[in-house]
Amino acid sequence: MKKFSRRDFVASLPPLALMSCYLEKADLILYNADILTVNPNQPSAEAIAISGDKIIGVGSNDDIMNLSSAYTKKINVGGKIITPGFIDAHSHPAGAGRSHLRNVDCDLRSIEEIKNAIFERSKKTPKGEWISGFKYDDTKTKEKRYINNIDLDEVSPDHPVIITHRGGHTAYVNSLALKIAGIDEKTPDPKGGNIERDPETGNLNGRLLETATYLVEKFIPNKFTRADYQAGVKLISNMLSRSGITSVTDAGTSVKSLQSFEDSYNSGELKTRVYCMIRDYAFDEVNDSGKKTGYGDEWVKIGALKLVCDGSISERTARLSEPYIGRPDYYGIIINNEDEIFEQAIKAHLNDWQIAVHANGDVGIDITLKVFERLQKEKKRIDPRFRIEHCTIINKSLVQRIKELEVIPNPFSTYVYFHGEKMKEYGKERLENMFAVKSFLDAGVPVTQTSDYPPGPFEPMMAIQSSVTRTDYTGEVWGPSQKISVEEALKVATINGAYASYEENIKGSLEIGKLADLVILGQDPRKIDPMKIIDIPIERTMVGGKWSYES
Ligand SMILES: [Zn+2]
Repeated sequence: MKKFSRRDFVASLPPLALMSCYLEKADLILYNADILTVNPNQPSAEAIAISGDKIIGVGSNDDIMNLSSAYTKKINVGGKIITPGFIDAHSHPAGAGRSHLRNVDCDLRSIEEIKNAIFERSKKTPKGEWISGFKYDDTKTKEKRYINNIDLDEVSPDHPVIITHRGGHTAYVNSLALKIAGIDEKTPDPKGGNIERDPETGNLNGRLLETATYLVEKFIPNKFTRADYQAGVKLISNMLSRSGITSVTDAGTSVKSLQSFEDSYNSGELKTRVYCMIRDYAFDEVNDSGKKTGYGDEWVKIGALKLVCDGSISERTARLSEPYIGRPDYYGIIINNEDEIFEQAIKAHLNDWQIAVHANGDVGIDITLKVFERLQKEKKRIDPRFRIEHCTIINKSLVQRIKELEVIPNPFSTYVYFHGEKMKEYGKERLENMFAVKSFLDAGVPVTQTSDYPPGPFEPMMAIQSSVTRTDYTGEVWGPSQKISVEEALKVATINGAYASYEENIKGSLEIGKLADLVILGQDPRKIDPMKIIDIPIERTMVGGKWSYES
């Protein structure tokens, strides 16, 4: 992080000096564009002028050309759409970057293919060393069952293997991994987790849910060097940039990951601004070093403290008030109860940190709101911007409490489209109250766009299509009452994301004085078949006045 940024400098100037900044000539002008500014006072424009990393003019071609000098570069955009850069308000870029660097990508369509991939990796890995896989998705493999320890033993008896689900809340391990972790049939379930057994034989099947995954994960040595951490950030930052993302929230940052974002920024590799939500286990170290929410600059900034209440949507462990479809006795998992979350949150609250709690099911959301209500009783803060990460299954009274506490919900934006085959476990009726962007917007609640990548794909065009059509990749519709317009989706994907990180005054819309973060789209999402929004090409992405991606 820079010690003293240009923004701090500009902010420290008296108002008159600030005015003169706006009279400076443009370095770059984009003209002949169809600009969707997401600024309600000037929704559309033809041209935009940029100086340094800021926008200095938005308006008609003629007006903006007045800001040009002999040194101004001018680009004719040819009538194409320009929007603000997309803000992914909840993702896991640091971890995902490292996984892409080193782990076996198990985003495959059969257990056989996954076994082959693990087998190939085992041939190149010294015996006894761990093999890790990621992005496994049980409902997307053709066998329609979970991968188990027997499958993995067949292809890798001499290497401990762990494959995490793309949802990140369950893991699938082989017998050697269980042995190393000292887990056998008699091992009791840990609090907030489950070591799964075959219902008929009682034998372990290698599936570990929620906190039970830590029983194995703690034995895996972290072999990533500081340079590896940085390389992971570089890799993912390029991937995000290609999809039009200019800002991302890392929803669970460790001290090493925070360092990796700073390293990447300092070496000029970072192409995406990052808001770092610090995980509970890293909180004391960060807080005691004097940092808290808002510390940093517009490239790498400390965000909320990130806590967890219940399970996952994609792995069907979210805690629901009504059982899962087809499993009348199963309601999902609470990982931390109200008192536990309160205890984890109170120090941060008293130190003026933003607080974000992962809560998916309506039971988890209710518990989280109770915690926020108690925190505000303990110390009434103005504008704490509490966040509920995912906030998936809601009802009228939850929305009312969310509004009263001014909580920011951050629901999954690509799940309806991408995880459609899982939705039958929630049911059509419940889907009318899931990923409830429309309900939040109608209530005036600043809901954001999020991927949670790896759990959901991060491409903003998929997110917009998913929110606008509520239709999955097979054509099935889930919760049509929650459909929103393209214009609404754009707002959710930009200015609302900026609000969630206290940055609505510096980004999230295209207006004078804001950061020049923008995207040029190949087609107009308002004018094409909504089922083809996903195919709209991202032609260019700009962050802070510099192209971070050019097709
Ligand atoms: Zn997450």
